[in-house]
Amino acid sequence: MKYIDTWDLDAVIPGGTKSPELQKKLQGIKDEIGEYETLLNAWDFSKDPSPEPFKAILKKKEEIGKGLGQSATFVQMWHDAYMDDAYANVVMGQVMDLFSEMQKLSTTFQKKLVSIQDEDWKKFLQDKELSEVSFALNETRDEGKRLLSEEEEKLIADLNQDGLAGWSRLYDTTVSTMTIPFTDKEGKTTELSVGQAMNRMYSDPDPKVRKQLFENWEAAWEKYAPIFADTINHLDGYRITLQKTHNRESFLDEPLEYNRMSKETLDAMWKAVAENKQPFINFLNQKAKIFGMEKLGWQDVDAPVALGDMKPTRFTYDEACDFVIENFASFGPKLASFAKHALENRWVEAEDRPNKRPGGYCTNLPEFEESRIFMTFTGSINDASTLAHELGHAFHSHVMRDLPQLNREYAMNVAETASTFAETIIGNATVANAKSKEEKISLLNAKLENATAMFLNIHARFLFEKSFYEERTKGVVSKQRLNELMVNAQKEAYCDSLSGYHPHFWCSKLHFFIDDVPFYNFPYTFGYLFSLGIYAEYLKNPDGFEDKYIALLRDTGRMKVEDLAMKHLGVDLTKPDFWAAGIEIMAKDAEEFIRLTDEVMNS
Ligand SMILES: [Zn+2]
Repeated sequence: MKYIDTWDLDAVIPGGTKSPELQKKLQGIKDEIGEYETLLNAWDFSKDPSPEPFKAILKKKEEIGKGLGQSATFVQMWHDAYMDDAYANVVMGQVMDLFSEMQKLSTTFQKKLVSIQDEDWKKFLQDKELSEVSFALNETRDEGKRLLSEEEEKLIADLNQDGLAGWSRLYDTTVSTMTIPFTDKEGKTTELSVGQAMNRMYSDPDPKVRKQLFENWEAAWEKYAPIFADTINHLDGYRITLQKTHNRESFLDEPLEYNRMSKETLDAMWKAVAENKQPFINFLNQKAKIFGMEKLGWQDVDAPVALGDMKPTRFTYDEACDFVIENFASFGPKLASFAKHALENRWVEAEDRPNKRPGGYCTNLPEFEESRIFMTFTGSINDASTLAHELGHAFHSHVMRDLPQLNREYAMNVAETASTFAETIIGNATVANAKSKEEKISLLNAKLENATAMFLNIHARFLFEKSFYEERTKGVVSKQRLNELMVNAQKEAYCDSLSGYHPHFWCSKLHFFIDDVPFYNFPYTFGYLFSLGIYAEYLKNPDGFEDKYIALLRDTGRMKVEDLAMKHLGVDLTKPDFWAAGIEIMAKDAEEFIRLTDEVMNS
């Protein structure tokens, strides 16, 4: 093999999860946290307004963050690549305890910033080093202004464990006990887990299988709906109370602030989506025609399209690596040589073997200023596209590696920019390389699955959440009403184009029960469209675009998204035009899909 498909964990910390070196490292971090606490408590701006003591605090914080990040990534890598290593969970617990010790000190840190008068603060930030990270510092200070007293915030943090986080865990536990029955052609019934049932329901080529599973699926969620109605009401009721306590006027303020974007931008994005849906509705109608249905059911939207007998393209790992590098090179030399470096230096764990967790991700080793990628490569086009996606994430971190840590923390909505961009390059290349019309159709269908998820499905989730929060602010919302709100949202988002809807989607979609951040859904559509919008700009002016692109990525952690887009692309995110240009790229795929499938069906 040209590229080795496993990563080298000993090069990070030798000796595995029981490594004495790791224990030594964790003890060192613990001591440093103690030193950090001493520095923080000793810092009194009113006595010494020079920036030096504060810079020492920031420096210590950054060192601890790097050490913790390196250790957490190392343990996570072990845990995911060797699931039979039971000790990984024990060490992860140790690392998490250290994270939460740091978390507890964050209120003290914020309170100290807030205690400085505005005038003094402005002067303070004129220091050269501090002015460089002023965006993040201002953000932390502004957020700090909402906080109650240190004691109250500590109480809230403790109560969250059994409140917000408790409700979210109750959801996970309940779902893990559920099963969905499935009866096969021989009449044998098996109980599937929720995950198994969902995968099969959306991807089985047989419409009867999808229909049976969907009916059983709805029935199972209906049975548990009283529990989930309680859960969602308490989870979001708790959150609304917290938001009010922290002086937030609207339930959208917190997610918008977290994503560093304005309400105008969010509205402009959804307006562009709503006004440009027709090509995707046409795509769904065409799929219905291919399946011989009048309209698609909810369970048919993502069904595979296999016309004729086509042999899908397969890759060896080496071929996939070369394919990705080659096509990255058509965009820019820096992206290509970075990917080559990562692949040659074993940054990727891709071996197909037992005892690995499913899925893929990219993670960072901050002490090395390098990334690592986890996935399982089985030879499909989809795997090649996952590899490109994760290399895109790694490239994003790579171009930011020399920036101060405070300028590297980007929000969820821009986190998928570089990955989606890389995936788009490879997606277009695979369609262009398809060996037959039939394969091209199947690839376009897969790409459009993404687009319909972003423009229709996530739009429905947003419409539902918005109306649910509006009603929840006034009181508890019944399960019947939750179903109604959901079906209304789905009908609006899918322009009434389906033959049936999923009333209990508010129970079955895990994203509604995540406790970390509210409105976990729209940042995905934002990220996808933001990336496509950048791609549209690239197509307009490809010459020298790579440097422009890198400059934009480097700024993702230090400004609001509106400023980011204006500075690097000269576009106004609060106007629908930019968003519409991204949608237009996918609309072309939808038109191509309809044209090709018509040709095949009429031949
Ligand atoms: Zn990603």
